[in-house]
Order: sequence, then structure tokens, then C-alpha cells
Amino acid sequence: MNLILLGAPGAGKGTQAEVICDRLSIPAISTGNIIREALRNETELGLKAKKFIDEGALVPDEVVIGIIQERLKEDDCKNGFILDGFPRTVPQAEALDKMGVNIDRVIDIEVADEKICARLSGRRVCKSCSASYHTMYKPSKDGVTCDKCGGELICRKDDHPDTVLERLKVYHEQTEPLISFYKSRGKLVVVEGQEEVEDTTRLTLKAIEE
Ligand code: ADP
Ligand code: ZN
Repeated sequence: MNLILLGAPGAGKGTQAEVICDRLSIPAISTGNIIREALRNETELGLKAKKFIDEGALVPDEVVIGIIQERLKEDDCKNGFILDGFPRTVPQAEALDKMGVNIDRVIDIEVADEKICARLSGRRVCKSCSASYHTMYKPSKDGVTCDKCGGELICRKDDHPDTVLERLKVYHEQTEPLISFYKSRGKLVVVEGQEEVEDTTRLTLKAIEE
């Protein structure tokens, strides 16, 4: 199954992507994580992306389209994949069409703007493996290190309040149009983001199983 997860920053796409990855044994591909790793390694891609990420802007379409095109060629995508954070603009969605990639279902995780800021201020990510936690909703076992690899948990620079507002604006302007794009193709399933992660997870699993 080829899936897309849509939703505002902080809606919980990454967490739900992991759940589906476990359930269906297909890779979860996060453009955000790929770009952040490039930043850490100071690759050419990382250097290109830095100023956009820091400002809460989107990285140019051609850059992320190139990333996805390469990633989807890898062997582990043969039986399907979950795209988390791609596409984020209509031209990115059209690029998937041009690559001949068929999408089975698009899951849109909806969370009100008012809740997004609180969610992002509590978000912590592992410095080593990018696993994502939340001080309230999804704490790691000891609160300071990653359950998976023991790495240090840090606050993402773009989760600071000013940048969050910019990212939300960008989401409404550039990403939200994808909801009607995929709805008109009969691919869209809406999942209302819940207070408790497990409750959202239940709805997501229902969305991929029915
Ligand atoms: P979130 O969903 O929490 O905003 P991501 O980790 O998906 O976080 O993305 C972080 C940043 O990476 C974005 O603000 C943007 O700058 C960049 N980025 C990730 N995916 C894309 C994409 N598909 N198109 C353009 N920029 C992207
Ligand atoms: Zn880790």
C-alpha cells in the first residue's frame, strides 16, 4: 500500500507513520528527517536547506522532489511506503504523478491551530536517531534520553513559537490545498487528531484497514 500522511506541523504525522510502518511493514519516509540528517552531516543538501528550515519556510520543490525520487527507487519501497511530510505543495503532488507513483490512500490528520503551538513546544526529538517524543503526550521512559537508542533529546530549533506561526501559515497556504486535491480523486480519509496518542492511533489503523 502506498500512503501519504497529511497534516499541519505537530499534528502527529511522524508518530502515526511509525504505527503504520510497524503494522504494514512498509518504510515510513520523512522528508523532514532526511533533510535534518543532511543538515547534521553538512552535506550539499543540508547547506541548501538550512536557511529555509530555520525560517519555517518550505525547502524548494525541486530539492525535495529529487530526494523522494531517489528514495522511492530503493528496494524497501517495493511493497509500499508511507510518505510523512511529502507532498507539501501541489507541484510536489503532481511530481508524484509524473513519476508514475500510484497513491492508494491519503490520511489527513486534523488538529486545530490552537493546539498546534502547545504540542510543538513540548516536542522533543532524539539527536541521534530522530525519534520523536512529547513532554506531556509521549514522554520517553526517563524523560531525558531516547528509548530506542539512548541519544540525547533536544528541542527542534524550528519548534520555537515564532517559527511555528510561520510554519502554520505556510501549511494553510501551500499544503492545505492538497486536501481537496486528493479528496477530488477519492483518496482522502480524515482522522481527527485526539488528545491521547493511542486514540489517534486507533483511528489511523481503522483508516488503513477498512
Ligand atoms: P513538521 O511536519 O513538524 O513541520 P517536518 O519534519 O516534516 O516537520 O519538516 C520540517 C521542515 O523541513 C519544514 O518546515 C520544511 O522546511 C522542510 N520540509 C520537510 N518536508 C518538506 C517538503 N515536502 N517540502 C518542502 N519542505 C519540506
Ligand atoms: Zn534515538
